[in-house]
Amino acid sequence: MHSLFWFRRDLRLKDNAGLYHALNSGNPVIPLFIFDCKILDHLPDRNDARVTYIFDSIGELRNQLEALGSTLLIEYGDPVEVFKTLLTKYQIGCVFTNRDYEPSAVQRDAQVASLLEDNGISFQDFKDHVIFDGDEVVKADGTPYTVFTPYSRKWKKRLESDLREGGEGPLSYFLKGYPTEKYWSSFAQLQPSSGPTLEDIGFVRSEIQIPTREVSQKLIREYKDNRNFPAIRGTSRLGIHFRFGTISIREKAVKAQKLSITYLNELIWRDFYSQILSHFPHVAEHPFRSKYEHVQWRNNEVEFRRWCGGTTGYPIVDAGMRELNATGFMHNRVRMITASFLTKHLLIDWRWGEAYFARKLLDFDLASNNGGWQWAAGTGTDAAPYFRIFNPYSQQRKFDKEMKYVQKWVPEYGTSAYPEPIVEHSFARQRCLETYKLGLARAD
Ligand code: FAD
Repeated sequence: MHSLFWFRRDLRLKDNAGLYHALNSGNPVIPLFIFDCKILDHLPDRNDARVTYIFDSIGELRNQLEALGSTLLIEYGDPVEVFKTLLTKYQIGCVFTNRDYEPSAVQRDAQVASLLEDNGISFQDFKDHVIFDGDEVVKADGTPYTVFTPYSRKWKKRLESDLREGGEGPLSYFLKGYPTEKYWSSFAQLQPSSGPTLEDIGFVRSEIQIPTREVSQKLIREYKDNRNFPAIRGTSRLGIHFRFGTISIREKAVKAQKLSITYLNELIWRDFYSQILSHFPHVAEHPFRSKYEHVQWRNNEVEFRRWCGGTTGYPIVDAGMRELNATGFMHNRVRMITASFLTKHLLIDWRWGEAYFARKLLDFDLASNNGGWQWAAGTGTDAAPYFRIFNPYSQQRKFDKEMKYVQKWVPEYGTSAYPEPIVEHSFARQRCLETYKLGLARAD
């Protein structure tokens, strides 16, 4: 009899909650990764950098597992069908995995769990992707928080509610690592496996560079002062590693507690949006506040393409979009500016922008991306009110005063090759106010 551990958003052996429980299950553990064709077939770009990154990360995992005498089974297909085949090959007592909160993942896991149950196999999932999930941080009456500040206060209180001895002083039980390395001898001894190539699954290698997992203590210590300036390398760029679990969120939260509460706060935003998506899955398709469903977007396709390509004639917006297109990264401040510009200046449905970011961002995460877009559009939980419209020029002056960021990404700025603004700022501002007002009046 075997246990099986299914890797998904947790592509690491160390400090992995579900893997720890699998290794302690008493049965040898077969490690598994599935390239889910239902996800991959919908990706528009064959050279998607995230797919290359997953491919390389699981290759690394397989090498580590082979050094331990085991391997990683790498399958391609619909997970339910993959499990049906695996059940004919191995005697499995229990499948372990870490929880994924996206609506399609929840549905997929329910289907897999039901198949397993029909075969007398249990399916156990664990919290690993976030510090607190589901109902762990809720209001006194048990309902979810929809505003960040009280949520973060309760989050911090909960963190401190269970302090235990942690080597270098008291450590919250919720940040305690899972010492999987003590149990690595519990991996099933297996022959090396091969698995598909990138080309076999329909992709080619991307040339985009992945930010390193190593972040200096200095950067985190100075994060508070530097994080708003896109020309400075002042943020950690760990988003993709949190997304795919190539680092542990608990380990980074412990560091943040010591070095920068501002950084810790950003990790709390991540938990916040994750619990919003779990509690209110309708946000994946609709505004959190339903009355905003009535805003009449202009949805001009030509303007949308100019925004995507970074030729709006607003330098900070164009710099951001060009950075995104070239690197798969965009600085948070500039994400806010470009998202606000698309929704408010151009009156293009936030879902268009959300989908474009989803296609391009290395750190794309449904919960945080959706949260960020709904915030910018004013339709979300903790949103900027619709009448607060970012002025791209004053944002530019405040956060890229010397225009270093603009010069890097828009070298033709200031020459005749640079386009005129796509729309005049105060006209766009007025049009936005009227359109939102009308939309809200329609909802009443
Ligand atoms: P750092 O500033 O170093 O922060 C560390 C980590 O904290 C991040 O990696 C991330 O995991 C978390 N974090 C920071 N800010 C936020 C935030 N506002 N909300 C949630 N988590 C946060 N973040 C994503 O991870 N994926 C997305 O798809 C995404 N889309 C966004 C779309 C819009 C329109 C906006 C305004 C923000 C979006 N964010 C998203 C949040 C934020 O911009 C990124 O997390 C951050 O810029 C990533 O860079 P970093 O790793 O250097 O972050």
